Amino acid sequence: MGAIAKGARRTSSKLGPSLELYGHVDVLLAKGRGELDVVAQVQRVPGYRIDGDVELIAHAALIAELAERVCEDRHPIDGVYELAVASLQELSHESDPRRASAWFLMTALDLLGYAPQLMSCASCERPLAARPAAFSPEAGGFLCDTCALPAMDLVPVATIKVLRLMASGDVETYRRLKLDASLMASIEGVLQAQLEHHLDRRLKSLAFLNQLRVVQQ
Ligand SMILES: [Zn+2]
Repeated sequence: MGAIAKGARRTSSKLGPSLELYGHVDVLLAKGRGELDVVAQVQRVPGYRIDGDVELIAHAALIAELAERVCEDRHPIDGVYELAVASLQELSHESDPRRASAWFLMTALDLLGYAPQLMSCASCERPLAARPAAFSPEAGGFLCDTCALPAMDLVPVATIKVLRLMASGDVETYRRLKLDASLMASIEGVLQAQLEHHLDRRLKSLAFLNQLRVVQQ
């Protein structure tokens, strides 16, 4: 939901220092005259702080943008707020922000009912063999050899295995996995394709993250 913090940019403001981007706060809102409420009081919730390089902040932006996008004003979806807070927390102490961000995407997809199908073919439901497979966001998962079209790119088995681990919710094992840049990119590719298929508009933060990656290469 939207709210305005009057005079928060003024140095004398009591609200300003607590209202930093991606911060976790308790706010007391007053009914405004327009559509927006007015922030009457704000208090930081002790804990994480998102502070660092542009990549870390870009991942925080993705978490915040997706959480905001999927919830209509004043109609929260169960679990989205908790997931966003937990993911920002994980992001703040994870040395590789892409790892925390990918976990967030998988969990968010699951929460929204868009989890990709990982064990059996998304078209014919036959169990997937242990080999590279094509991913189809339209079908909602991986395809078996018979259902995949010849032109489709194949996703490596390692990627499919990590996605299955993520889907199982085993965050402890996930944190210990060695994920090199190409594996990470492949995992992100599947999750982003699945997510964007279900959103009516593209996420600005995701486009920015991908631009950042091109610049870094
Ligand atoms: Zn099939």
